[in-house]
Amino acid sequence: MFLTDQITGTLVNCYATCKREAWLYSRGIHADQEDDNIAMGRALSQLQNSEMKFPYSHLHFDKIEKQRGHYLITEYKKTLKNPEAAKAQLLFYLYILKNGLKLKECHGKIISSKTTLYIEGSLENLQKMEILLGEITAFINTQKPPSLVLTPWCKACGYRSYCF
Ligand code: SF4
Repeated sequence: MFLTDQITGTLVNCYATCKREAWLYSRGIHADQEDDNIAMGRALSQLQNSEMKFPYSHLHFDKIEKQRGHYLITEYKKTLKNPEAAKAQLLFYLYILKNGLKLKECHGKIISSKTTLYIEGSLENLQKMEILLGEITAFINTQKPPSLVLTPWCKACGYRSYCF
């Protein structure tokens, strides 16, 4: 049985992008490693300075810093294929930090090229994340993957070979 504690930021991102992808990912089915987008992401992540990684639990954002009265989590992304999914992933990190480290207030920022997105770690957003985590847990525990529904991301998806 899949438990809420097993949810990772990547799974939240997948779920917000395509439920079928999330279900495949949760089963340890990996995206096509030869896919150009996957290969590029892997290469960039290897190039990143490992000292910038924040070593808490299984969280993989790039930077945490103390600002006036709150913490700010920053994540750098090569591309923003789905901004809403990236925001959901970072909100998940804020949720874990808030509950795990009991940080009073924390917010998030995603930087991708010239785009910067801000995510508020407000009570309302954190409550939404709690609901989403329950939804993801129930979904991942279903025995079969959902049927294929075309998404704007299918063309560049590393799971294409499982769908087409
Ligand atoms: S190819 Fe499309 S339907 Fe299949 S997992 Fe990727 S995004 Fe989802």
